[in-house]
This record gives sequence, C-alpha cells and structure tokens, in this order.
Amino acid sequence: MIELINTKDGELHMICTCDNCHYTFECPKLPTRCPDCGKETRSHKVGSRIVSLTCVREATEAEIDCYKRIRRELAEEESQAAAAAALSKNLKALG
Ligand SMILES: [Zn+2]
Repeated sequence: MIELINTKDGELHMICTCDNCHYTFECPKLPTRCPDCGKETRSHKVGSRIVSLTCVREATEAEIDCYKRIRRELAEEESQAAAAAALSKNLKALG
C-alpha cells in the first residue's frame, strides 16, 4: 500500500526509506538514489546468490508512522520556536 501525504505546497508525496542508511523521506516518486547516502543499489544474499536491489523502497506502515510522528514533533518544535521568537520580539518592542 502506498500512502501519500500532502506537502505544504499541496503536492502529494510518497514516503520512501533507504535500506542502506534507513533514512526515511518524502518524495513525489521513488528515487533511484538515496538523497542521504547517495547509494543506488545494495547487495543482498539470497541463498548462495548475491542479488543487487535498489536501496530506496516504499516505506513500511511502521516506518510511515514513525516518520509522521517525527514530522509532527518537528512541526511542533518549529511552531514553539516561532512563538518564542515572536514573544521575544514583542517584549523587545515593549522595551
Ligand atoms: Zn541511504
């Protein structure tokens, strides 16, 4: 199942995870290369054979949940920081 999320720009992005560095990120479509570690493929041992698979894949439900939680926490921190900045600006304006 591909879960799409709305970005600030109103675009729909899917959530991807890199199997090499476990970086989870949103992207309009599955990229061939990880934006974090830059890897394209990773070798997997299947029985006695080594197969090369792409590093970036669709995130699993658990990874999406985790990603959304972090995203929400970051958004909260950002709004708190913005509120604090606005407050200190107002206090400065008051003298
Ligand atoms: Zn990576």
